[in-house]
Amino acid sequence: MSIQVFGMGVSRGVAIGRAVLVASSRVDVDHYFVPAERIEAEVERLRAARNEVVAELAALQADLPAEAPAELSALLDVHLMLLRDDTLSAATRQWIVERHYNAEWALSAQLEVLARQFDEMDDEYLRERKADIEQVVERMLRSLARAAGNSPADLEQKALAKDFGGEEPLVLVANDVAPADMLQFKRSVFTGFVTDVGGAHSHTAIVARSMDVPAVVGAREASRLVRQDDWIVIDGDAGVVIVNPPQIVLEEYRFRQRQNELERARLHRLRKTPAVTLDGQPVQLLANIELPGDAAAALEAGAVGIGLFRTEFLFMNRGGDLPGEEEQFQAYREVVQAMKGLPVTIRTVDIGADKPLDRLSAAELRHEHVLNPALGLRAIRWSLSEPGMFRQQLRAILRASAFGKVRILIPMVTHASEARLTLEALARVRTQLDDAGKAYGRVEVGAMIEVPAAALRIESLLRYFDFVSIGTNDLIQYVLAIDRADETVSHLYDPWHPAVLQLIAHSIAYANRAGRDVSVCGEMAGDPEFTDLLLAMGLRSFSMHPSRIAQVKQRILRADTRGLADCLPRVLEADDCASVSRVLMNASS
Ligand code: PEP
Ligand code: MG
Repeated sequence: MSIQVFGMGVSRGVAIGRAVLVASSRVDVDHYFVPAERIEAEVERLRAARNEVVAELAALQADLPAEAPAELSALLDVHLMLLRDDTLSAATRQWIVERHYNAEWALSAQLEVLARQFDEMDDEYLRERKADIEQVVERMLRSLARAAGNSPADLEQKALAKDFGGEEPLVLVANDVAPADMLQFKRSVFTGFVTDVGGAHSHTAIVARSMDVPAVVGAREASRLVRQDDWIVIDGDAGVVIVNPPQIVLEEYRFRQRQNELERARLHRLRKTPAVTLDGQPVQLLANIELPGDAAAALEAGAVGIGLFRTEFLFMNRGGDLPGEEEQFQAYREVVQAMKGLPVTIRTVDIGADKPLDRLSAAELRHEHVLNPALGLRAIRWSLSEPGMFRQQLRAILRASAFGKVRILIPMVTHASEARLTLEALARVRTQLDDAGKAYGRVEVGAMIEVPAAALRIESLLRYFDFVSIGTNDLIQYVLAIDRADETVSHLYDPWHPAVLQLIAHSIAYANRAGRDVSVCGEMAGDPEFTDLLLAMGLRSFSMHPSRIAQVKQRILRADTRGLADCLPRVLEADDCASVSRVLMNASS
C-alpha cells in the first residue's frame, strides 16, 4: 500500500530508492557495498563474529557462580538460541549475499526488521524480547569492530568497497541523525535522507544540504511507517515522502529527476562566469565547508574563497580526545593550500547547542543533559572556558596563515569582554609563536553577528574586529526564540519576520558605512529566494554551500541593485513574506 508522510524539505530535489532503516544509535555503523569477489570473505567475517559471541556467552554461562539467579542462565540460553537461529544469522547472510551490504550494515538492517516484528506482537513478554535481540546484535557489532583491521591496506580495501556502488539507489530513514553522523555519510551510498525529527535549520539539515542530496526532516512517523527495503520517493522540494509509490507516481518523479539533472548541468556552466549584477556591481560568492576535503567542491563550484569553515566538525565524536595543534594545523593548511591564494575564513570551534562534542542528537541533549543547550555554553563561550584548547586552535590557525590568506571568525560574540579576551589570547599566541620561531601571516579577525545584542551594538564590536559575518541561522533562532533544531516550532522559524530583516539590514548598513567587510554565511545566503532582498540591503558578499553557488549566481546576474536599493524602506515596513516579495518583485520589473 502506498502512503505519504509529510515533513520539511531541507534539501531540494527528488530521490528514489530503497529504504535503509537505521536506528539512531546505529547510524555510526559502517555502510558500504562489498564487491562480488569479497562476498564470501564478508560472510566469513559475520560467521567468525557469531562464533566469537557464542564462545563468549558459553564461557560466561560456564563461569556463573552456583548462587547466581536462575534467570541469568536462562537469559544466556535465550541469547545463545537467538545466535543460532536462522531469523538472525541466515537472514543477515542474505543481506550480504543478495544486496552486497557489509556485515555491520547487514546486521543492523536485519535488527530493524526483527525489532519491527517484536514491536507489533500483542504479547508483552514476547515484545520485551526485542531487548535480547538488540543485546546480541550489539555484541556481534562489537566483535566485528574488534576484528576490523585498521592497517592502511584494510582501510584502502574499505575505501575501494565504498566506491563500489550497488545496483539500486538507497535512501536512509532514521528517527534522528546527529550532525557529526550526518557528516559521516558525505562519502556514503545514500542518495537521500529522511528523519522523524529535526528543524530545517538544524545542523543535521545543514550538513544534508551541503551533501546536495534530497532530504526531508521532521517527518514524525517516517521511521515507524517505512519498512526496511520499501521503495520510497523523497520530494525534497515539497517535504513529502511517498512510501511504495504507484507506478504512475514513480514515473512522474523519475521525469522530475531528469529535469533536475538537466537544470543542474545548465547551471554548472555558470561556474566560471563572474558574479556581477546587471548594473555592474560585483558580488563575492564564497563557500561554507565542514571538512578540509570540501575545499575541492568549493573551487569546482566557482567559489572565490571560503567564507565559513565550520571547524567544530573536526572536534566531534572523538570520545573526549580533541584534535591537537598539529592535527588542526594540518587540516587548516590543507584547506589554505587547496584554495591556492584565495581567502579562507576559519571559524573557531562552535561546539554546543545542537553540535555536542559526542554523538548526541539535539533531542537527546535537550532531554537528558542540558536544559537549554542553545542558550548555554557554546561557541566562543565554550572556547573561553577552555583557554588551553582555545590557544591551541588559534596557534594552529595562525601557523596555517603562513601558507595563504587566512581570516579568523569568532562565533556567537555577544559581550565586549569576549572580544577583548579573544584578542588577548591571540596576542599571547603570537608571542608564543615568535618565541618558538614559527612563521605566521597577517590575519584579520572577524565576529559572527548571530545574537541580537551583537547586531544591535555592531558599532561596539567593530571597535575590536576587522570584519563581520552574519549568521542568520542563529540570529533568527535568538530573535524569535525558536530552537532551530526543534521541529515542533519550526513553522515559527521565519526568516522574513520584520524584526529579523531589520537587524540584518542594520548590520549590513552599519558595516558598509564603516567601510568594513560584511557577509552573510547563514542559510539565507544560499537560498535564491533571499538574493534580491540581501542585495537590496547592500550585501555584496554571500557565503553558502558550494552546491548553492550556481543558483544564487543566476539570480545575481539578473538583478539590478539600483531598483532594489530604492525599495528597501518599503521592504522594512512590510509585515510578512508575501508583502516583502511583492515590493521586491515590483522593483525588479
Ligand atoms: C549561522 O548561525 O547562521 C551560522 C552560519 O552558523 P551555524 O549554522 O554553524 O550555527
Ligand atoms: Mg551560528
